[in-house]
Amino acid sequence: MAKGKSQYCTWFCGDCKRANDISYYDKRRNDEVVKEVSKFCPQCRKHTVHKRKDTKKGN
Ligand SMILES: [Zn+2]
Repeated sequence: MAKGKSQYCTWFCGDCKRANDISYYDKRRNDEVVKEVSKFCPQCRKHTVHKRKDTKKGN
């Protein structure tokens, strides 16, 4: 039986700390998932380092 193994995560801007993006990844491939990535932040209006924070799937 296949259970949902998707891990949801939110990307927070390292500058303004706002959550800018939500994505999910396969938890079994956790090692391949980066924890920091450069994304465009609409608040800062520039590319900043975004840090991933895992979030549980909401009820
Ligand atoms: Zn920002």
